[in-house]
Amino acid sequence: MCKHILNAQVAIRAPCCKKWFDCAECHAAVSDHNLRKTNEMVFACKKCKKVFRKDMTDYEEEDEFCPHCDNQYVVDAVMPEASIGIETEDIRVDNRVVKDDRLRTKQEQIDSIFKIDGSHMLG
Ligand SMILES: [Zn+2]
Ligand SMILES: [Zn+2]
Ligand SMILES: [Zn+2]
Repeated sequence: MCKHILNAQVAIRAPCCKKWFDCAECHAAVSDHNLRKTNEMVFACKKCKKVFRKDMTDYEEEDEFCPHCDNQYVVDAVMPEASIGIETEDIRVDNRVVKDDRLRTKQEQIDSIFKIDGSHMLG
């Protein structure tokens, strides 16, 4: 379910990772790469659930409709209200230091070894 375009009529298959997304932002949200753009995009109509391809280099007004059910899928995107793009998060962090005695001891051992080695080498 796309939270960026509330009235998305189609899903888009990302050419890069072969997964279906409602919009490019949905892709960006879960991907570590940019959405690859191709001349031929693959869509899936949300109304009739059928898949179709469109040549984006030769895109005309009639191409805004699903070839299977004539659902117009190119529509003005309805964005969620008050979409600021910042998820409020409680930034108060528990600042109590978690004590891990084993880790601490290990770290102290490493520190002491390092110091000894260092002084020895310098000495
Ligand atoms: Zn991708
Ligand atoms: Zn989206
Ligand atoms: Zn359709």
